[in-house]
Amino acid sequence: MQPNTSLSILRLDVSGQPVAWISWQDAVCLYVRQRVAWELGEMAFHVRGGNSRLSGQRSGVVINSIIAVRGSASARRLWHQAPRLNNRELFRRDGYLCMYCGKPCTERELTRDHVIPRALGGQDQWNNVVAACRRCNLLKGGRTPEQAGLSLLAVPFVPNPAEYLALKNRRILADQMEFLKKQFHHSRLLDLC
Ligand SMILES: [Zn+2]
Repeated sequence: MQPNTSLSILRLDVSGQPVAWISWQDAVCLYVRQRVAWELGEMAFHVRGGNSRLSGQRSGVVINSIIAVRGSASARRLWHQAPRLNNRELFRRDGYLCMYCGKPCTERELTRDHVIPRALGGQDQWNNVVAACRRCNLLKGGRTPEQAGLSLLAVPFVPNPAEYLALKNRRILADQMEFLKKQFHHSRLLDLC
């Protein structure tokens, strides 16, 4: 199969922990530099190279959808730090629902609400933020949900590295998703597709 431009390859460290999404072009470089230790995916993509001047044969590389890379940064450190917080992944974590009224929203209709408001010492961190529609955010104002008479539909959480990778990429291949799902800690992300 030929890779299309949006194809991302799931990069693991040699212990098998997911590290990052990389472009298929970067994956080709890793194959050429013989840094791919092993492959795990079910999908293979044939990338055609140029014709060799000497032999006249066409060169090429077959890249796998999930590759473990030698000498790459260990994924261990990823498990000790929270992934970067941004709205795109936050709204996806919360299923594009307002976490107060449950209304389904588009990305543009949602806001980042601090459960404990920042003015009351709440942090701008994954476990203190939820997706909220503008109406609920306005209604809540600078108050806690209890003070505003609102309740949360789900508890906010910090995604682990596998969950974060799943939230980040919207074009995940079935085998890549199956692999990541095995490391999910939060069942509400299992519906991601
Ligand atoms: Zn709402």
